[in-house]
Amino acid sequence: MNLILFGPPGAGKGTQAQRLVRERGMVQLSTGDMLRAAQTTGSELGRRVKQVMDAGHLVSDEIVIDLIAEKLDETDRKGGAIFDGFPRTVAQAEALDRLLEARGARVDSVIRLVVDQDELLARIAKRYADQGRPDDNPETFKTRVDAYLRQTRPLVPYYQKHGCMTEIDGMAPVEIVAKQIDQALEHCAARV
Ligand code: AMP
Repeated sequence: MNLILFGPPGAGKGTQAQRLVRERGMVQLSTGDMLRAAQTTGSELGRRVKQVMDAGHLVSDEIVIDLIAEKLDETDRKGGAIFDGFPRTVAQAEALDRLLEARGARVDSVIRLVVDQDELLARIAKRYADQGRPDDNPETFKTRVDAYLRQTRPLVPYYQKHGCMTEIDGMAPVEIVAKQIDQALEHCAARV
């Protein structure tokens, strides 16, 4: 099964992806984690994306599509993936559809976590205090939310048209969100 966890930064995508990995042995593909890892290892890619990420903007479609494409053989063998933080633009969504189609696969389910702005700000302020991730600082976070609204939110109509998308209240307690995701996955899996 290929699942997209969709929503603004701070919606809880990473938390839910990690739970699915633990409970179902699924593979998580987080482009944010891959890009941060590239920076930690000091690779050429890491150096190229640092400024853009620190400023809260999206890195180029080409870079993240390549990162995902490189992983699909492995996720194929493991029965699919959880895409966390990818796709973030319509061009990325179209590329993912093409890459999966070439493997006889598809996006089986899109889970949209809906959280209001004030709650997002509060969650990220807490994460900034706890972890000190540079792009969680309040100014940069505004840019990231703005990038979400302008570039990523247009994927909602895209997946309403092309896929099995379920909206879930991401303000609910983590266990309730988890239960609703499980139900949505069953529902989408039953779809022909
Ligand atoms: P995240 O950890 O998913 O919030 O991503 C952190 C940062 O990595 C984002 O603010 C972007 O700069 C970059 N990034 C991660 N995933 C993508 C993507 N799919 N497209 C473009 N930029 C991305």
